[in-house]
Amino acid sequence: MFVGTILNRSGQFFEVKNPYKVEVVGLASRDSHYDAEYAIKVAKTYDHRLSSTDRSKVLRNTAEELLKKKEDFALLATQETGICIKDTRNEVDRAYQNLVVASEEAKRIGGDCLPIVAGQTTKLAWTLREPVGLVCAITPFNRPLNQTVVKVAPAIAANNSVVLKPSEKAPLTALAFANLLIKNGLPESMLTVVTGYPHDIGEILLSHPLIDMVTFTGGVSTGERIVQQTGLKKLLLELGGNDPLIVLDDADLEKAAKIATEGAFVTSGQSCRGIKRIIVMKDIADQFVIRLVRETEGKKWGDPLDPETDVGTVIDEEAAINIENRCMDAVKDGAKILCGGERRGAAFSPTVLDYVQPTSTLVACETFGPVAPVIRVDNVSEAIEIANGTVYGLQAGVVTRDFENFLYIAKNLRVGGVGLMEGPNFDSPFIPFGGVKKSGIGREGIRYAIGEMTVTKTVVVPW
Ligand code: NAD
Repeated sequence: MFVGTILNRSGQFFEVKNPYKVEVVGLASRDSHYDAEYAIKVAKTYDHRLSSTDRSKVLRNTAEELLKKKEDFALLATQETGICIKDTRNEVDRAYQNLVVASEEAKRIGGDCLPIVAGQTTKLAWTLREPVGLVCAITPFNRPLNQTVVKVAPAIAANNSVVLKPSEKAPLTALAFANLLIKNGLPESMLTVVTGYPHDIGEILLSHPLIDMVTFTGGVSTGERIVQQTGLKKLLLELGGNDPLIVLDDADLEKAAKIATEGAFVTSGQSCRGIKRIIVMKDIADQFVIRLVRETEGKKWGDPLDPETDVGTVIDEEAAINIENRCMDAVKDGAKILCGGERRGAAFSPTVLDYVQPTSTLVACETFGPVAPVIRVDNVSEAIEIANGTVYGLQAGVVTRDFENFLYIAKNLRVGGVGLMEGPNFDSPFIPFGGVKKSGIGREGIRYAIGEMTVTKTVVVPW
């Protein structure tokens, strides 16, 4: 059993359960309002004393040690989330990459130098990127390691201190990672971790005057609540997605089916940028769907610790029941389940639905589970209209050989990013990531997150 805590002053704990076997895998501190206040005050004492070289070294050393402990971290993430070990191993690799890039970027946070004329005199202005101060980072349950890294690593690179609040559904991996950072030389005041329930600690973390910035990843409704509580603080919001894969009638259908299943089922379909809707031209839909079903039936689901498993569980049984109900409702609206649709506790089998109506809740809202809903359309204009027809706008993918058509679609989609011959789940530490509409405000991606987590100071001198 893993007992994770950094502060735990209250002596109260809560249980973290494995969604597959429904057994306790560890305990985390059930922090109170006062514990959170203490964590904020401790983190505010950080005096920004680490040089860029020191910060870079801490991040790099942590990255290397994370890689050495890859199996331990993957196992812990799988145990607390039910996400299969194949995916959590990949997650450790992604976290490693993000840490390495953050350690490099820490050394090159610079500004501009601008000769100016003000009145009749010439002057020289230069800009500095200074740390925003104290950052509160709130993370979701899916990808409990990498979601922590993409917030904490750029915050450290930019010389901020952080109060981290991981999801109460999966706090253990984040705690283990925080311990790793401290073991590798991060001053304790630079990172405090608060765990527990939002109703105990949410309000103080969002509204405390010592917090300068809130970076939040989670659902849209939580994001909307957060905005109301933070007041005049800097905000970075990475919220839900309902990302489409658009398959045009000239597409390589084998390739399209592979992209579709990878994007729809990775991390048990619980990815903000996962494929949530597959928008397919009617002319090729029958041929595409045959391949999609074949690929889907090749996916093994169930025991997350089995190295052969492609799809583990979702976060808990309640979430799986919700997915099941949405599939049933889509069927009532006219959809057909072609494969899957089976639930065993928190595990839901990889499922393909065809003839899904764009108005069905399954696709009108974000469905966080291993479901590949196919929406058939007549032409490119209808595909764009449906792709844009929800409140979300995170990423999108297009499968076509026709570059002009791709450019037309890329231009007309209201999203934060779009890929050709890629699912919307494309990712790299080097590119910006974030949404438009209700999918969020601001950009992650290490260099861009550092930009968000710094403020510009301008110095002007006679020249
Ligand atoms: P959630 O919104 O329920 O919770 C996210 C975090 O917010 C958790 O740590 C939770 O404890 C905390 N929280 C909840 N209410 C709070 C409150 N009132 N005050 C302060 N904190 C509060 O989300 P989830 O279910 O953990 O994650 C799934 C959602 O996250 C999906 O919608 C998914 O799309 C989204 N997500 C988005 C991205 C992205 O980068 N855009 C990435 C991953 C997940």
